[in-house]
Amino acid sequence: MLDKVRTIQPQNIRNQLFINGEFVDAEDGSTIDVLNPHDGSRITAIAEAKPADVDKAVTAARAAFDGWSNMFSSERGRLIMKLADKLEQHFDEFTELESLDTGHPLRDTRRLDLPRTLLNLRYFGGIADKIDGREVPVEPGFLSIVKRRPVGVVGQIVPWNFPIMFCSWKLGPALAAGNTVVMKPSEITPLSTLRLVDLMNEVGFPPGVVNIVPGYGHIAGQHIAEHPGIDKIAFTGSTATGRKIVQASAGNLKRVSLEMGGKGPNIVFEDATLPAAIGGSAFAIFHNQGQACIAGSRLLLHEAIADEFLEKFIGLAKSIKIGNPLDDETEMGPLTSKMHLDRVLNYMDVCKKEGNHILTGGKQPDNDELGKGFYIEPTVVEARPGDTVFQQEVFGPFVSVTRFRNDAEALELANATDYGLGSGLWTNNLQRAHRFSDGIKAGMVWVNCYKRVHPGSPFGGVGESGYGRDMGIECLQEYTSPKAVWINYDAKIPPFYSR
Ligand code: NAD
Repeated sequence: MLDKVRTIQPQNIRNQLFINGEFVDAEDGSTIDVLNPHDGSRITAIAEAKPADVDKAVTAARAAFDGWSNMFSSERGRLIMKLADKLEQHFDEFTELESLDTGHPLRDTRRLDLPRTLLNLRYFGGIADKIDGREVPVEPGFLSIVKRRPVGVVGQIVPWNFPIMFCSWKLGPALAAGNTVVMKPSEITPLSTLRLVDLMNEVGFPPGVVNIVPGYGHIAGQHIAEHPGIDKIAFTGSTATGRKIVQASAGNLKRVSLEMGGKGPNIVFEDATLPAAIGGSAFAIFHNQGQACIAGSRLLLHEAIADEFLEKFIGLAKSIKIGNPLDDETEMGPLTSKMHLDRVLNYMDVCKKEGNHILTGGKQPDNDELGKGFYIEPTVVEARPGDTVFQQEVFGPFVSVTRFRNDAEALELANATDYGLGSGLWTNNLQRAHRFSDGIKAGMVWVNCYKRVHPGSPFGGVGESGYGRDMGIECLQEYTSPKAVWINYDAKIPPFYSR
């Protein structure tokens, strides 16, 4: 299992819950196996958090809240920066750990997952002492100010597809704003998060500020969503789970922000620079094996360039080097779990039933070494707007292709799903670029690029993709509550009750 691992020390594979600054077993001793997606072998068994463990984590987070929220804000920021520095010192270990646990090729964890994690931590570390309020110009003699106060204990529930990066998206702003956290990583990919909190201890985060309780969604996740001691949920995951979280949150009316699924339209117009559009569209769908909420999973092609585009795009898809994520040369690894592989393969049956022409892929690679793992070939399928694979998020290296004749038809197709997260277009026509960036129903629009993210740019969706934002200064609204304070220092208030 570990023959290609160069820098992970077995003792650094943390497999317990992290509560109040300590690694502990689950109260009832339950565990969950964590599998290597390359060959299905067991990496370790992690402690499984149940409601009693979540309760302990909430108690610890609550106890830590006063100290953390009242700490000098620049000191909070400094700790987040120190964590980034410490993580950078362990760069190779974390890229390998993330590749081992998720199946992301090393070249991706080195170029994207870890660098973006560092960028996020540093951005929000730097913003901690800049979250200020404002003065409202009210009647003379009053000072009216708006303070921004942390929300309290935040429950953060994250999926398996980008564990370390999402951990930084969630922790960075929550901690910078003075909240304490109970986080439930996915039970499928918890290892990088558990190791990260080990580093938090080393750099001096106070106990209880961050607590990590991996466990099953319907048990630990549901308990977090219902918990009366939690003030806000920040969720990333599927739309179906997001709905359950909103319902569960009603008990204490906690705040909720939801980053959910997507079915990103990626429109290539007849005037696009084709080589850039082909390479960019391949990145949009095949990076991370298509397991990205912002994947460009619906390719919309102008009929004038569709044939030429597809010939080259399919050639590129077939040439992608699939293999062990821990090999330096690998361009595409396995899907992250067997359950997910089965789900994606099931869509191939749906395609056959609904008569979608599979242009390439649609099956596991015919290769002995990869046969035990959760691999699937890059897949390109023709689809119409009413088809299941045009509407539903497959979440694999699976792209549907639909042709259009004019701009009006392209916009209609782009907006023909209930989702509205990422979207993109390839054109050299500036007016068209602006018209479409207005017209597409989405939280993010990329022109002549795809899947660009930066901690300063708000990330999130509309419609069934959710509400609230990760990143950007906008996300600080999610992690703070405004508090209006009025001070009468010289106001002449006409008496309402003169006696
Ligand atoms: P999921 O909804 O099954 O699980 C996400 C998290 O929620 C996991 O930690 C899971 O254990 C937990 N969970 C499951 N049931 C729960 C419940 N009843 N109560 C509370 N928590 C529960 O999603 P997934 O399969 O892990 O991830 C893939 C999905 O996530 C895709 O739909 C993808 O689009 C979405 N996603 C969205 C974004 C975004 O930012 N918009 C980013 C990445 C992934």
